[in-house]
Amino acid sequence: MDYKELMRQAVEIRKRAYTPYSGYQVGAALLGKSGRVYLGCNVENAAYSPGICGERTAFVKAVSEGEREFQAIAVIGGAANGPLELAPPCGICRQVMREFCDPETFEIVLGTGPEDIQVYTLSQLLPLSFGPENLEKRENV
Ligand code: ZN
Repeated sequence: MDYKELMRQAVEIRKRAYTPYSGYQVGAALLGKSGRVYLGCNVENAAYSPGICGERTAFVKAVSEGEREFQAIAVIGGAANGPLELAPPCGICRQVMREFCDPETFEIVLGTGPEDIQVYTLSQLLPLSFGPENLEKRENV
């Protein structure tokens, strides 16, 4: 699957975002190494903190379906009634990506639509990151 198609799917799922409070809608399309795509949108909550980003929605769906290895994620955002905008993942989402993805090879596809994409590695967006291998070095567990 090419990244234009992945972004097209992110644009489509963004329409399902539940954002009565911020009005900022995000769509994410996560490509697993199996070739399957997991779609996510942001889902807000009246208590605010329970809200979840589109990227993490996609990751939680994928992991709960048994996939744990990923190639790339396309993300797009913007105001509910405005133009599509480049939406960089928040810090929490970058850390969730780090849990399952190789920082040097996992790619994050951003942009304003399928015809305007930029590709970053996770290590570019989350340099000097903390990941699962940091805990593998423990001796007294
Ligand atoms: Zn996020």
